[in-house]
Amino acid sequence: MARLDNKVALITGAGSGMGRAASLLFAQEGAKVVVADFNEENGKKVVEEIKAQGGQAAFVFADVSKAEYCKGAVDFTIETYGKIDVVFCCAGIAQKAGMIWELDESEFDKVMAVNTKSSWLMAKYSALELKKNHGSLILIGSTAAIRPRATQGLYGACKAANNNLAIGLAAELAPEARCNCINPGPTATPMLPTFVQAYNDQVADEIAGGTLLKRLVDPMDIANAALFFASDESRSITGVSILVDAGADKARGKN
Ligand code: NAP
Repeated sequence: MARLDNKVALITGAGSGMGRAASLLFAQEGAKVVVADFNEENGKKVVEEIKAQGGQAAFVFADVSKAEYCKGAVDFTIETYGKIDVVFCCAGIAQKAGMIWELDESEFDKVMAVNTKSSWLMAKYSALELKKNHGSLILIGSTAAIRPRATQGLYGACKAANNNLAIGLAAELAPEARCNCINPGPTATPMLPTFVQAYNDQVADEIAGGTLLKRLVDPMDIANAALFFASDESRSITGVSILVDAGADKARGKN
């Protein structure tokens, strides 16, 4: 028996990085997966990868910063597979690096909408379905939620909001369903280079060297944490945030 047999999972930002890794892993573990992304080409590729490994998946276009698409992704999943057991809100964007006085107000609206409003909207439209199925909602934060950095304060604030939202949603989904949050550290995905200037192998080694475990997080490490929260193995865990950061946060604390 696989860990997600008979479950249906909806994953946002599933066309790349952690969302892609979680989609592949959840499907291997028996889930039917709806791959939601606004990058149609990448999302459809992930569906093909899942089918090639013998799993079941379908793609839905969704810009998670907009209510109509969040509701659309939830409706599509129920129409396609009959129910939803797991929602993993993984979509996100980096902010434009800059001091607060250098940034336009529009940057706040965009980054908050994609990184935080999206979690609220996905929860809003899936909550009753998750309660019905004793399901699991998984949000995504960042180590930046705990230790924000100069030029990245907006990004940290969005991710801190997701950590707090997970606690409030845990209370609202209880006692039937659960909500938890994953805080990734520096993870080897297409997003990582956007956090630093002039990313190259040496910079990657320096970032890895700044963690206790001397490694970048692999997208599959985040997928494994999400699998735990998605599965019944975590049935007594709700309203928590977990760091998956190779010890990056603790290494910084030592300095
Ligand atoms: P990624 O590889 O860039 O994947 C993010 C996916 O979300 C991409 O497919 C992207 O499409 C999609 N997306 C962006 N905006 C969207 C929108 N409005 N609606 C729907 N989909 C959208 O990034 P990742 O590293 O896997 O990041 C996953 C999550 O982890 C994000 O929330 C990120 O903030 C968070 N995180 C990442 C790191 C890290 O070091 N990588 C660390 C901490 C937290 P495009 O490819 O077309 O942009």
